[in-house]
Amino acid sequence: MSRFMSRRFDDLEAYVPGEQPRDMQYVKLNTNESPFPPSPAVFAAVNEEEVSRLNLYPDPEGLLLRQKLSKLYGVGVENIFLANGSDELLNFFFMAFCDAHRPVAFPDISYGFYPVYAGLYNLPYTQIPLREGFRLSYQDYCHIDSSVVIANPNAPTGRAIPPEEIEEIVRTNPRHVVLIDEAYIDFGGESCLPLIHRYSNLIVCQTFSKFRSLAGGRLGYAMGHPELIADLNKIKYSTNSYNINRLTLTAAAAAIDSNDYYVQNSRIIQENRAYTVAALERLGFETVPSLANFIFTRCPAIPGGTLYEKLRAKGVLVRHWTKPAIADYLRITIGSREQMDVLIQRTAEILRGE
Ligand SMILES: *Cc1c(COP(=O)(O)O)cnc(C)c1O
Repeated sequence: MSRFMSRRFDDLEAYVPGEQPRDMQYVKLNTNESPFPPSPAVFAAVNEEEVSRLNLYPDPEGLLLRQKLSKLYGVGVENIFLANGSDELLNFFFMAFCDAHRPVAFPDISYGFYPVYAGLYNLPYTQIPLREGFRLSYQDYCHIDSSVVIANPNAPTGRAIPPEEIEEIVRTNPRHVVLIDEAYIDFGGESCLPLIHRYSNLIVCQTFSKFRSLAGGRLGYAMGHPELIADLNKIKYSTNSYNINRLTLTAAAAAIDSNDYYVQNSRIIQENRAYTVAALERLGFETVPSLANFIFTRCPAIPGGTLYEKLRAKGVLVRHWTKPAIADYLRITIGSREQMDVLIQRTAEILRGE
């Protein structure tokens, strides 16, 4: 217990991010980063001239970037809100739209930050169990009279549900906001974004961290009805009006201008995903079907924790959780073909007892 901190945080369990180790060079497949650098346009945009302007505050509205996103997605500028990573957006969502009278629900196996934010604001929350095979049943979220957060595709499973099912969840909880976290939507899933024009209680949340190779830039964005965007702005301007830094605004605008580069990278990731799933299957692995830039997989011949440790000792970093329902599984980021070949070779060695 802290000597000085408010007692209200005594029971708060903070989020534990995936390791960013410095002890050696790992094949790093543990935090779903892109193996590709930002596009050449980003390198060109973040130049000396931009650095020379760092004495000035950034545009608090991020208008230029919102205009670019508006064109790319066919939504209004007034439908877009920028945040310092989608993590900040989630923070604002829990702060703005949930309280003792507005409980929040999310899946029991999903992004580990959701229960942390619920704990931070001391919210009543329900973790709805996934069904067999880590399937999310949309009926479990219909008419629950509660705010809802769903990652689609889900993390760490990689499974996705179609927009029609999301629509049912949004339609049947009209008094509450439904947030769909589409951090991984650009690796083969179908976005529910068009629904924001028909439902004023839907927020679609995306990020530059995965598909757009900008995890270090910290940029997420929400799209939804202007009323919800105004609510989020009220929170933002009460916490940090300059939440997106100048260099990130510049890098992100250049990234939007080079969308084709990222689409091409995503194709490679999807090919590497199929390649990795097939190679692991030959080694006896069972993998959950994934529409994300990671896979969730287990090998009946070896416990997940053991395989995690042995891979780590061989210089390959993946993600493992000790929570019993998923302790057999590893979440493996899909990287370059070379990285996946190292993973597959080291795994084969471990299974041979080497
Ligand atoms: C990575 C991730 C985020 C966080 O993204 P940032 O924009 O880097 O904060 C949010 N939600 C899910 C499901 C993620 O996997």
